[in-house]
Amino acid sequence: MIKRRASRIINVGGVEVGGAGTIVVQSMTNTDTRDVSSTVKQIKQLEECGCEIVRVAVPDLQASNSLVDIKKQSSIPVIADIHFDHRLALAALKAGVDGLRLNPGNITDPEKIKEVVLSAKEREVPIRIGVNAGSLPRKSSGESSTVQRMVDAVLEEIDLLESLDFDMIKVSAKAFDVLTSVEVYRAIADRIPYPLHLGITEAGLPWAGSIRSAVGLGILLHEGIGDTIRVSLTTSDLCKEVDCAYEILKSLKLREKGPTLVSCPSCGRSETDIVSLAEEVEQRLRHSDQVIKVAVMGCVVNGPGEAKDADVGIACGKGKGVLFKKGKKLKVVEEADFLEALMQEINSMVSFSN
Ligand code: SF4
Repeated sequence: MIKRRASRIINVGGVEVGGAGTIVVQSMTNTDTRDVSSTVKQIKQLEECGCEIVRVAVPDLQASNSLVDIKKQSSIPVIADIHFDHRLALAALKAGVDGLRLNPGNITDPEKIKEVVLSAKEREVPIRIGVNAGSLPRKSSGESSTVQRMVDAVLEEIDLLESLDFDMIKVSAKAFDVLTSVEVYRAIADRIPYPLHLGITEAGLPWAGSIRSAVGLGILLHEGIGDTIRVSLTTSDLCKEVDCAYEILKSLKLREKGPTLVSCPSCGRSETDIVSLAEEVEQRLRHSDQVIKVAVMGCVVNGPGEAKDADVGIACGKGKGVLFKKGKKLKVVEEADFLEALMQEINSMVSFSN
């Protein structure tokens, strides 16, 4: 059991973040925020696959004006991602967003930050201090390491917000480099009470990006660090980010969501096409949110053990397989019936959204 860091709790549009509670899964739209219908459509898709807080880019005033309508049509909290121009943050707050992300690397004038913070305070809207290794404040350059510069950027911005009596703070400090990210988050986790938003930035295409994210976030989450996560992948299917985030949390037993498929890699002992069978089962389980463990195993070596441990499982042998349910052997099925027999048992335990 992982002992979580007990951070301060903040409320992001009705979703609690921090306090060693549920680790919240986030993502970010990649539509043009000025295009309200496309952005809302993508938010709905993200929500359907389990995204709990969504961030949208606000590159100009027209985008910030769209936030009123986006907010009205979103049933999950909407965070405005602000860079360079503090007036966009003020407009986003006026539009009713549930949170702001400010980058200390490109909004640096304390007076402008003060204006934003006071407006956020009046509206009780939290701010994420979102430091990124690629856009660090110039004043923190020099001889210091990237890690030190990122930590300094976080702490300096916190000092400024606290001096304005503002504490609805969330912090992220993302780098592409996994070891840098881990070091920075460890350093700030020890020094601040605020909840941490974890991410490996610009992690890459889904295959490598998911692995990088799982390694970086996995290390930190295992140490109890992290209150909300976003997996950043280069993909047009943003549900891949959300799916990956949940898979990371599920593997550390920090969240439960949907089916878990246990399937063996197959080897020379297997006498059936275990890859096709596992892929088909995964495909058919895609639209279920029910927590269920399904095992698809290729032979009798580990097969019965794993299959018995699952809610439903099959251990396939030559021409025949043994079906298990809740640890009990149900029956022997013919190879032609492996898939349907397994699905029949699964269907009796789960419901599907479509
Ligand atoms: Fe090979 Fe059997 Fe293990 Fe699958 S369960 S990898 S078929 S030994």
